[in-house]
Order: sequence, then structure tokens, then C-alpha cells
Amino acid sequence: MEKLRIAVQKSGRLSEKTLELFNECGIGLTGGSGRLLVDSPDFPVEVLYLRDDDIPQYVADGVADVGVVGENVYVETGKDVVITERLGFSKCRISLAIPKAHEYKGLEYFQGKRIATTYPVILSKFLKEKNITADIHVISGSVEIAPGIGLADAIFDIVSSGSTLFSNNLKEVEVVMKSEAVLISTPNLSASKQAILEDLIFRMRSVQKAKKNKYILLNAPKKNLDEIIAIIPGMKSPSIVPLADEGWVSLHSVVPEKDFWNIIGKLQDKGAQGILVIPIEKMIV
Ligand code: ATP
Ligand code: ZN
Repeated sequence: MEKLRIAVQKSGRLSEKTLELFNECGIGLTGGSGRLLVDSPDFPVEVLYLRDDDIPQYVADGVADVGVVGENVYVETGKDVVITERLGFSKCRISLAIPKAHEYKGLEYFQGKRIATTYPVILSKFLKEKNITADIHVISGSVEIAPGIGLADAIFDIVSSGSTLFSNNLKEVEVVMKSEAVLISTPNLSASKQAILEDLIFRMRSVQKAKKNKYILLNAPKKNLDEIIAIIPGMKSPSIVPLADEGWVSLHSVVPEKDFWNIIGKLQDKGAQGILVIPIEKMIV
């Protein structure tokens, strides 16, 4: 049977989260570490481990069918591949940063400056759009130390918390792009591989949706039931289970994680008690 070959970062910031997602999708991987190509006993895929920068090229060449990369790498490499799904992890910004002590009034700051980066394509496109001429120094790692050692005046690099910048006496002044892990694929997959990819995406969405929601159980006084239902409508409508005490019912529903604290307060105001909130593993709607 034909398998879908997925390129995954061998070791780095994407690796663990990617394998965790596969695991949650019921895709286990056999074979020890150190192997380049690994099979799944549960699902018709095989995983090819690569450096993240090489993944778009391998997918464009058809050596791998799909791959997981940071959107930043997808844009920087500019290969002939398409984003088929956004995966919601490894979120970061690609930003311009300058020495902490310098005053920053706007992009004019960068006119004629030397900027160190591993993302020359994204940076030069941005500077061109803004009509800034700067000297781009491409370096392959530890970009954040470039200003401190006199190699550059500023940097263009990945930022997540900003602590690396801070400890190198730098400050973030412009966010040029936001990135997250994405699933990329060749635009021309065979029908059978396309079917496997669709099944994979279906599973990924079920996992992602589940993470964004919580299962909630509570006891509600019957007299306030309509108002309580209005606060938590549920996927279709909430389940209502009678309790021995005739004035009360037990209500089960699903609520978005982001609304959670807001909803709990409103429920308590309407007399809800014994509220239990439970994580959902998979969610198919
Ligand atoms: P490789 O050895 O495979 O070339 P790398 O050193 O280029 O790895 P990593 O540092 O592992 O790359 O980062 C991989 C991707 O993870 C980045 O392209 C980016 O999308 C994302 N990423 C990097 N740093 C962070 C961060 N601090 N927080 C969140 N996501 C990040
Ligand atoms: Zn890399």
C-alpha cells in the first residue's frame, strides 16, 4: 500500500511538538532514533528526518510528500509548495532588534545600517517595501551576538519571549512577521496520497479542536435553567440529566477554553454548583 512520506525536523524546536501531535493523532512511529526514515505501524505514513531548512526543497522535489516547518522557513525558502494546514505550535515572531540603549523613532533608523540575519529573503523584501537601504549580513547562527561583537548594528531574528534579546542588550523594535508550524505539501499528490493526507488533517483538526475546548458538568437549579443554557449552549445543545432533588438538574456541555473563566463567573451568579471541568482528548463535530 502506498504511504504518505512526511518530512519532520530531526532535532530542534519543532521535533518534539510534531511527534506529540502525531501521537495524539494515533500515529506511532517504530524504530530507534538515529534512523533517517521511520515507519508507522498504525497509519500509512513514513517519517523522514531532516534539517528544517531542507524540508521545503525535499517536498518541492517530491522526495517527501508533505512536511512540517516553521512558516518563516516556508517563506524564506520560497519553494514550490503550499501550506495545507496551520498547526498552532512553535509560535514566534521574526523581528528587527537594536541595541537597548539606542533611541528608536522608526524604520529610518535602519537606513545604511548593517543588519545580521539568517532570513535575508524575508528581510530584504520588507526593507524594499519600506524603501530602506541597509546592508544585510547573512550569518548561520547566534545572530543575537552580532551587534555585541561589532559585526552588525542590528539584527533580524526569531523572538518568542524576548529574553535572549534582553540578555544580549537588545530590544525588539519591529515585528516583521508572525510564524507558527505549518504542514506543507506538493500541489500534485496522487489520489491515494491525497486521501491519506485528508485523513491526517481530519485527525489533526480533531486534536486541535479538543485542545481549544473543555467538557463541563455542573448542577443547576431548575428555575434558572434557561439562563444557564444561554451561557453554555454546547455543541448542539447541552445534555440535561435529572437529579434526585427535583429542584435541580445536572447539565453537561462543551465550552471554549478561551471563554472559560468568563463563563464560570456567570454560571456561579446563576446558582450553578459542583462545577467540574474536564479536558477533551479528541473532538469530532
Ligand atoms: P535545524 O538544525 O533543523 O536547522 P534550527 O536551529 O534552524 O534547526 P530551531 O531553532 O530548531 O531551528 O527552530 C525551528 C523552528 O522553530 C524555527 O524556524 C521557528 O519557526 C520555530 N522557533 C524557533 N525558535 C523559536 C522560539 N523561541 N519559540 C517558538 N518557536 C521557535
Ligand atoms: Zn534550520
